[in-house]
Formats: sequence, C-alpha cells, structure tokens
Amino acid sequence: MTSPESSVVTKTCSFCHAEVERRRCRRNRYGEYICSACLKQGKRWSRRRTLWRAIKRRRFMALGLLLIVPGIFIFVRVLAYVVAAMESRPDQ
Ligand SMILES: [Zn+2]
Repeated sequence: MTSPESSVVTKTCSFCHAEVERRRCRRNRYGEYICSACLKQGKRWSRRRTLWRAIKRRRFMALGLLLIVPGIFIFVRVLAYVVAAMESRPDQ
C-alpha cells in the first residue's frame, strides 16, 4: 500500500533550488534540472551560466560597437566629402 506521492521522483531546481517532481522539470544541456515555473520565466540555465552568457553577449556587443563606430565615422566623412564635392561642381 504505497501512496503515489512517495513514489514520485523529485529533483532540485538549479535556479530556485525548489524540490520539484521529475515530470514537472526539464533537464538542460548542462545536466541541470529547471522547474516549469523557472522555465516560464525564460530561465534555462543557472545564475552562473546566465552570467557567463551575459558576459559573452556583452563582449559580442562591444565587438559590434568597435566595428560600427568607425563605420559610422567613415560614412560621415565620406558623406561630407561627397557633399563638398557636389557643392564645388564646376557647372554650378
Ligand atoms: Zn525553479
């Protein structure tokens, strides 16, 4: 006479550290168990992994800015050169 409650396998959520039923949580690619409540909030990795991802994303953004800022600078310089060339056309 075992109740169904005792046979339920529980896992600890890597994010909120709550005890959740195995069928109510998901295992991510790092082998961490994430409960459905955390999944709904878009949390798929633990804080450490999320932080690492944020750092990596910021680094990518910084790299993008390093390429975009000189790009805009060159574009403005070329635009100024074109405008100056158009203003000093001999047929005007
Ligand atoms: Zn959770």
